[in-house]
This record gives sequence, structure tokens and C-alpha cells, in this order.
Amino acid sequence: MTLDRPGAHVADPSAYEADTLGMSVEEMRRLGHKIVDLVIERHIARNAEPAILTGVPADLMAVLGGPLPEDPMDPDASIDLLTEVALTHQQHGDHPRYFARVPGPSSFAGILGEWLGTGFNTISSSWGGGSGPATIEMVSIRWLSQMIGLPEQTEGVLVSGGSIANLTAFSVARSELGPGVAYLTDQTHSSLPRDLREMGCGTSDIHYVAVDEALRMSMPALRAAIAKDRAAGRKPLMVVATAGSTNTGAADPLNAIADICQKEGLWMHVDGAYGGPSAVTAQGRAYLQGLERADSVVLDPHKWFFQPYDVGACLVTRPGALERCFAMSPEYLKDVQATTGAVNFGNRSLELTRRSRAIKLWLSIRTYGAKRFRAAVQRGIDNAEYAEAYLRSKPDVWEIVSPAQIGCVCFSLKDAEHNTHGERAKAVADSGFACVSSTSLHGRSVLRLCTINPLTTRSDIERTLDMLAEGIGAP
Ligand SMILES: *Cc1c(COP(=O)(O)O)cnc(C)c1O
Repeated sequence: MTLDRPGAHVADPSAYEADTLGMSVEEMRRLGHKIVDLVIERHIARNAEPAILTGVPADLMAVLGGPLPEDPMDPDASIDLLTEVALTHQQHGDHPRYFARVPGPSSFAGILGEWLGTGFNTISSSWGGGSGPATIEMVSIRWLSQMIGLPEQTEGVLVSGGSIANLTAFSVARSELGPGVAYLTDQTHSSLPRDLREMGCGTSDIHYVAVDEALRMSMPALRAAIAKDRAAGRKPLMVVATAGSTNTGAADPLNAIADICQKEGLWMHVDGAYGGPSAVTAQGRAYLQGLERADSVVLDPHKWFFQPYDVGACLVTRPGALERCFAMSPEYLKDVQATTGAVNFGNRSLELTRRSRAIKLWLSIRTYGAKRFRAAVQRGIDNAEYAEAYLRSKPDVWEIVSPAQIGCVCFSLKDAEHNTHGERAKAVADSGFACVSSTSLHGRSVLRLCTINPLTTRSDIERTLDMLAEGIGAP
């Protein structure tokens, strides 16, 4: 179906042949195709290229810097310099052996959506100025919420990533319930306390709750913390639960937290920036039981929802709460929204002029379908379980410290060699073959694999673990 739109009004199209900065149609086409080809070639060659490459500041500056170009330079040479130097010196989050931190296994349909949106200089700020992109964002948020099992009335906004999405949710919580204390743990991603500090929370407003053996928020400790703050005359505001910690994939007990929030009148926030998308699978849904009871949920589609950087989602299950917090002219908005169902996304976060991050999401969900997303997420969960089984098959070498939990497994060399974890991880990264993290759990050094790239093979996992075991830098 197509909707009616006005016809073209240009009297003399040839007058507009060159764009404002002087590139002919032929040149646009030639360079555009060149870039498409470069990206495709990179995808074909990617698995044999280094998973990560880090440069030396002076070397990179020498090649990429130089005096301000007053006169035009050859775009082909500049594009080549970008692809050969600047864009190779990165962590390649979509490389099948990039297991560090949280990978970004972006899908090609997502890339196409990103290109198209940029090419049409897409804006998603107001309904009047961007009703098409706004609809795409509303639909994407609806689909995303449905896929992870959030209630029908869920609303949301797409921002740059988890850090800003969490900040957005915290602002909404405060706007709905007033200022107060936030409860989190030492497994909470470090960008969240930073968000709270930047909102003006002091140390007494950020209450760290103890974790249990499995690094999940302890419920007795949470109840005690709330009671202690009330006794001291402070107002508890919200519990910040983590649905898949970056360290181990551990999820706080969401149902128990929802019960406490309900009883105490607190906002329930869930940071699912890493693990939230696991809820598209039956296994992940069971693991994150209670997620659907949250007041706000954050996801990072640029991690486990196969989108190129950047896109984070802030989802809020209380209708109107985002606008009550962020609308700049709420009086005007009441009319528009109540009568037409139009959304002004510039009224749902601190971003006013904003590109559409929904186009890539919409295009990739339609291109692949929900079933393939579920299968791709499940594959990441299975791969961590395979890694755990492989490590357990070599009990003389390895010990599991935190078992596979939605795509993440932490392990350690047998006692004497703990101190070499960091060196071994670095040797593997320096070789370019793979990239893994070392972190610390209960004060103990561990190695960690995050296996959410659906392209990762069992052989990729085995070879990476063998290299770590041998402590060498070449496969
Ligand atoms: C990555 C991550 C964040 C931060 O998200 P950005 O997209 O890097 O801003 C927050 N919480 C968790 C659990 C994460 O994994």
C-alpha cells in the first residue's frame, strides 16, 4: 500500500544535478558503489582478519592527521586510508572470535537500514517533522517489547546505548515518584552509578546491596537496606536490577525484586543492556522470569540484537511516563497525542534533533523474522554452554568459576597460574586470532568468554581456549 503524497515541484531538475558541495551524480554513484563493495569485501574477509588491532597514537596521527586540507583531496585516497588504517584499528565486535566485554555481532540488514536512514538524512524528533520515521520507531519498540515479553502498553525510545538508556529510565523513575535512594550491587554496570551521579544523586542516594554467592542481589540485604534508609528518614525510590551482568551473565532475582518493589511502592528498573535480548528465547525468558513486571527495561540492540553501533532502547511500561518526564510543552502535547496517537520522540529523552535508530531495527526484524532472531540468540547461549563443557573436559588445566549463563562463562587456570590470565589474554589479542577478557570475581582473577556471535563455531571456541591454555600467541 502507498499513501498519497504531493508531486514533484522542480521545474528544471538539471539545475540540481550537483549537490551543494559539488559532487556529480556519476561521482556519487561511483563512490557509493565503491563503499558498498569495500564493506562487502570486509565482511567476506573478516573471519581471517584480526579480531582486534590497537595502534600507537603517534603512528596513527602521522598517517591520518596532517594540516587542515584547504583544497580538495582525492576522495578515493581518503576512503582507502580510512578502510586500510582507521577502520582496521578497532575491536571488531562482529568478528566470530571477538569474545571480550560484550560483542556487537551486527547483521547486514541492520547495516543496510543504517545506510538508508543516513542517506535520506532521516530525522525522528517530532511527528510533524518526521511522522514516517516516528512510526518506524513506534513499530520497532512494539516488536522489541513483544519479543522479550513486555506488556502491551509498553512505550519506549531509542538512544545511543545502554548508558543513556539507563539515564533516561532513571530520570523517568524520579519524575514519576520523586527523588530518593537507588539500590544496586557491585555487579551493576559501572555506567549506572555514573548516570545516577550525573543526575545529582549523592552517595547516600546510591545504596550498594550485597550479592549472594552467585553474584545476584541478595533479597534479605535489599529488604534490610530499604528498612535502614526509611529509618534514617531517606526515601527509597527504585531498585536497579541487572538482567545479565557484564561480568558473568548473572541475573538478579527479578520476581522477588518485583514483589519487594510492589510492597514498598518502589520503581523497578531492569538493566538488560547485555542479557535482555536472551528473553526472546524460552530459555532466556525462564532465566529472566519477572522481567515483564519491571517499570522500565533497558536493552542494547547493538549488542545482542544484531544491530550496528549505536542503538540502545529504554522501555517503560507506565504509559505517558516518558513524556511526563521529557516533554518540553506538555500542554500542547496532550491534544496531539490523545487525539491522534502521534508520538514526538523529541519528547521522550534528552535528545531533540535525532536520527532514526529504528530504521535498521525495523528492516532487520522484517528481513530475518523473529524466528531467526530467536535462533541466533539461542546459538549464543548454546555456545557458552559448549565452552563450559569443553573447559570441563580438561580438568587438569581449567576450572569453571562461573558457569555458562546466557552467553557468558568465566574460568580460571588451575591455581598456580592465575597471575598469567591477563598476559595470556593479551597474547591471544596481540596475535589477532581472538579477543577475550580477563576480569575479577570475588576478588579472584578469571578469564571470560562472551559468546553471543551466532557466527562463532565450536572450533573457534576450542582453538581460542587451547591458545589460552598453551599461553602462546599463534594458532
Ligand atoms: C554495555 C552495558 C551498559 C552500557 O551500555 P553502552 O551501550 O555501552 O552505553 C550498561 N549495562 C550493561 C549490563 C551493559 O552490558
